[in-house]
Amino acid sequence: GVRRVGLTGGIASGKTTVADLLAERGALLIDSDVLAREVVEPGTPGLAALVERFGPGVLTADGHLDRPALGRLVFGADEAARSARRDLEAVVHPAVRARAAELEASAGLDQVVVHVIPLLVETGRSGSFDLVVVVDVDPAVQRTRLLARGGLDPEQADARIAAQASRADRLAVADVVVDNNGTADDLARHVDDLWERIRPR
Ligand code: ATP
Repeated sequence: GVRRVGLTGGIASGKTTVADLLAERGALLIDSDVLAREVVEPGTPGLAALVERFGPGVLTADGHLDRPALGRLVFGADEAARSARRDLEAVVHPAVRARAAELEASAGLDQVVVHVIPLLVETGRSGSFDLVVVVDVDPAVQRTRLLARGGLDPEQADARIAAQASRADRLAVADVVVDNNGTADDLARHVDDLWERIRPR
């Protein structure tokens, strides 16, 4: 049976929408982006480790992680940025894995656990799931939806898309492809088909 599902897709492909539909049908969701924020909340060992490594400049006045400030240290092609990025990942990734394992242990015995992992392909983890589901959109649709969501200009949107694994690389690891080129109703029907295939019986 299918117990652990890895769900991925490009930026603005519809991962969150698909994940929410699966949760409505009874799946336990484990979203690595959500966990990555949790493990550096105020009071966590993760945030303390980041302050130790990067200094109090990565804190806002009220003691939260200052993401733009951290971003200025870790985004870049020079060695200092690369090294900062490695150190950041060395704090966040193990904490996220530990929290994911804890959540997974809380799942019902025959509950389907869906791991939402935007960088599943980029991080080479597609082998650790019973089933890899890829939410797929045509690049033109993806770009339109990414821009419609706001916050990025066309150049930034294209750069975000180009920085990710290609559509072909993603499709190559997919056991199931969920097409999200249509309407929200179309998508819900595709998710029903997927759920029929993976639901506990
Ligand atoms: P991100 O990579 O940024 O986390 P995501 O893959 O989780 O994004 P969603 O947030 O689910 O994608 O969807 C991206 C955007 O596209 C959202 O604004 C969502 O409302 C919209 N969207 C998703 N599916 C459809 C659809 N079938 N028709 C129209 N808009 C859609």
